[in-house]
Amino acid sequence: MAQSELRRNLITKRWVVIATERNRRPSDFHHDRVPTNKLKEDSHSCPFCPGNESLTPKTILEYSGGASWKTRIFPNKFLALAIEGNLNKKRDGIFQTMAGRGAHEVIVATPSHKTVYDLSNEEMTDALWSFKERILDLRKSLDEDGEPKIQYIIVFGNQGEAAGATKEHAHFQLVGLPVVPSASRIEFINCEEYWENENVCLFCELVKQEHREKSRIISENENFLSIADYAGRFPFETWILPKNHLPLFEDGTPEKMRSLAEAFTDIVSRLGKTLNYPPFNIYLRNTPIHERSHDRYYHFYLKIVPHLTEPAGFELGTEFHINPVIPEKAAEYLRESK
Ligand SMILES: [Zn+2]
Ligand SMILES: [Zn+2]
Repeated sequence: MAQSELRRNLITKRWVVIATERNRRPSDFHHDRVPTNKLKEDSHSCPFCPGNESLTPKTILEYSGGASWKTRIFPNKFLALAIEGNLNKKRDGIFQTMAGRGAHEVIVATPSHKTVYDLSNEEMTDALWSFKERILDLRKSLDEDGEPKIQYIIVFGNQGEAAGATKEHAHFQLVGLPVVPSASRIEFINCEEYWENENVCLFCELVKQEHREKSRIISENENFLSIADYAGRFPFETWILPKNHLPLFEDGTPEKMRSLAEAFTDIVSRLGKTLNYPPFNIYLRNTPIHERSHDRYYHFYLKIVPHLTEPAGFELGTEFHINPVIPEKAAEYLRESK
């Protein structure tokens, strides 16, 4: 008989099936996949390499260092959302619409032609600091009626073609949205409900319980805890959380950004060694930029999700995922990988 366990994460209130009988090992995911830290393109034709700036839109922000810039931000050439113009919110019967306003930027994290797997702590610290500067700047965008154009900012990264990367050179993307996405909204509602019932922050409680149980901790430093998500939807899904109550990413001090960069490069290197440099996605989930009421019960966080399985009909139909690796086992493999 199949052995499995249903688990629920209270922050997302999403159920997952942990398929304990499958108990897949890291080598089961290697297949004949090419490690994504091996570069295929060369730097001459790479639009993200120094000297090729004319191949990209104009710089919004850059940090200089050495012979060239060390972090460079510019608008995405294939803009999903543009900052100019009004929102023009409209209703059409039961449908709602508005203009595609917002921001879509590319953050090149290093002048060196290399992948996210090879970013140094210093490069990642600068990248995080640049996210913060862009968030603080975009927070100020108002339309002609004085209404904020951007309600929510997501920063994400795709490593490897299978995870959606079109360029190998280490970069991240920032998208400023005129609405709060439902995946985040649900988390605020759940955390608010917990706060109202229990009078404590659910994230602070989570950090406490993870410290008590230890089995899902992969690594930690002074400010951040890296864990396997108790109810992770994907194998080796990893969560980096502030250990102390910190709702806004952009409130992070230089010291916190350094710690977060260290936590990030540590996890990326463990995933690379354990799973032979798989494609992965990383995203920063933050509090909305204008709604401060969530600050009492929410922590920003980073999620790193290796691209090892494909969601199919069951997952699409139910949003109920089947994870073939027990999170405690995934944490153990990653813990031992250094
Ligand atoms: Zn390059
Ligand atoms: Zn908290």
